[in-house]
Amino acid sequence: MTYHIAVVAGDGIGPEITSAACRVLDQVVAKFGHSVRYTQVLAGGCAIDALGEPLPEDALKQCLDSDSVLLGAVGGPKWDTLPGHLRPERALLGIRKGMGLYANLRPARLMPVLSGACPLRAETAEKGFDMLIVRELIGGMYFGQSGRGQGEGGTYAYDTEVYSQMEINRIGRIAFEAARGRRLHVTSIDKANVLESGRLWRETIHELAKEYPDVTVKDMLVDNAAMQLVQNPAQFDVIVTTNMFGDILSDEASQLTGSIGLLPSASLGDGTRGMYEPIHGSAPDIAGLDMANPIATVLSVAMMLRMSFGLPEAADMVEAAVEDALESGLRTRDIAWGGPYIKGSEMTEALLNRLN
Ligand code: NAD
Repeated sequence: MTYHIAVVAGDGIGPEITSAACRVLDQVVAKFGHSVRYTQVLAGGCAIDALGEPLPEDALKQCLDSDSVLLGAVGGPKWDTLPGHLRPERALLGIRKGMGLYANLRPARLMPVLSGACPLRAETAEKGFDMLIVRELIGGMYFGQSGRGQGEGGTYAYDTEVYSQMEINRIGRIAFEAARGRRLHVTSIDKANVLESGRLWRETIHELAKEYPDVTVKDMLVDNAAMQLVQNPAQFDVIVTTNMFGDILSDEASQLTGSIGLLPSASLGDGTRGMYEPIHGSAPDIAGLDMANPIATVLSVAMMLRMSFGLPEAADMVEAAVEDALESGLRTRDIAWGGPYIKGSEMTEALLNRLN
């Protein structure tokens, strides 16, 4: 079978890490008798430069026509002063919304070989952790009504958090289903003590939980969750939460694993097609210097193989290659912590060698 992937390489290190991940993908699917056809899609800052807008109409169509999307990262200082609707990040929101990708899945696991990189106390890090954060992606405050006006205090601004039962239900279902393939525990994070939307969130998750009697569910207020993540991360299996809380907590969790350069993510909707991307940004400070760690993007491809293409053995092979490279001591600069390190391209070669 030939899979069709839309590659949104984007800006900064985006082109380096996506081309590394595509080489890994080509090599691993060939082992299973498959191949991949790529369409390069222009979106983000590079699309602003070339065509004057972050998400040209054609770009979304190319993503919708593919079996899945692989995204590098968009943005950079060059475009930071543009008005909101012209910023590169608009491309991301537009693709997510246009493809109906309402669920963002971010695994955060502390690999034993990197436990020394965890910024927590040694006894907490030694216990390790393995959690999956399920973040609602196309609702809540990032998509609610917002605006500015004039009042007694001068200019005011507002953003609105709105969630419907339908939106909470469908993201909750993704979390409960994911828990069934893991350790059967869901932590639902809200701010039900203050926000009405949080109370609806909690009620809806509890109603849904009745369909999953084999899965335990625990509510947690977001402020407590931020604290529990650093106090006892091992308690978490699947976390489900809103767009904004998920944005913040998943970055916090990622840092506990050692480096932002290691963590993949998947964004899914109702079908099998998804968008897969590293959780880090375009790292303009190291773009073009061959210092970018390709692992987060390579592991995003592993998620694609498992979740969109139903090739779990291929995904396992990619993940095993990454673990083996790290266990043999290979480090890119972001995970070397002052020790010797190799180039990003050398890490890619090491992964390809292990897949051979
Ligand atoms: P960033 O994640 O790009 O970089 C933060 C730090 O981590 C930098 O020091 C960078 O060098 C390092 N880093 C990131 N990825 C790395 C990798 N693979 N290997 C080695 N080191 C890596 O975050 P930032 O600097 O806050 O943002 C830069 C730009 O990226 C901004 O324009 C921001 O809007 C954009 N951004 C895009 C996305 C996305 O496209 N999904 C996500 C976050 C930020």
